Amino acid sequence: MGVVIETQNLTKSYPTGAGDLPVLHGVDFTLESGEFTAIMGPSGSGKSTFMNILGCLDRPTSGVYKLLGEEVAKLSPDQLAHRRLHYIGFVFQGFNLLPRADLLENVSLPLLYARLPAQQRKIRAMEMLEQVGLAPWAKHRPSQVSGGQQQRAAIARALVAKPSLILADEPTGNLDTQTSDEIMALLSRLNDEGITLVLVTHEPDVARYAKRLTRFRDGLLVEDSPVLDRRRP
Ligand code: ADP
Ligand code: MG
Repeated sequence: MGVVIETQNLTKSYPTGAGDLPVLHGVDFTLESGEFTAIMGPSGSGKSTFMNILGCLDRPTSGVYKLLGEEVAKLSPDQLAHRRLHYIGFVFQGFNLLPRADLLENVSLPLLYARLPAQQRKIRAMEMLEQVGLAPWAKHRPSQVSGGQQQRAAIARALVAKPSLILADEPTGNLDTQTSDEIMALLSRLNDEGITLVLVTHEPDVARYAKRLTRFRDGLLVEDSPVLDRRRP
């Protein structure tokens, strides 16, 4: 089992008009291949900030972040873009699909950056839509399908470049209970198949699908423990 994520004394401050706002105060965190952790914590405790750093969407102010053994701060922009595309899939609360593109185009978009030929992009994106049960909706736009289907499409998009890690920031935050259980069943299945997963949620019932619970408070990791009453789909 390899280490996928390792942070050492990670801090983040945001510059504001009134000076620097410290948000993360020194986070040490390790995630091994195959793990599935749920990050919980009050609003404003730094969960999204942490996830954005893990996803290489943002940089820490100080401390070390190693992704699959490589120190992210030392990667060139090209190397970083490559890691972001092929190692990590990001799923957001608001789905973040392109409204004017159909689901197939949305899912195939990351492969454009991978410079895959059009026909292969289409084939691979269609495979992903099949995996999440959306093949019949491939030609529909996001607004023509339900919220749960949009999130499944976003998960297919996150998977299309075959990452080893999925980062999901409140992926069920906009969904009703039944739909959110469906999304968690899908994420649980992906973890069973070998994908490493970090999920942010404020709902205990959603967190219990994970194997591990990581709790943030005021920019610090205050608890990290196994989930004892794990929910299975
Ligand atoms: P959470 O996801 O746990 O709700 P966030 O990581 O989104 O928390 O935010 C933590 C704190 O950082 C909040 O006080 C928020 O207002 C602040 N913050 C987040 N992003 C920025 C930003 N880009 N600029 C300034 N402050 C920010
Ligand atoms: Mg957040």
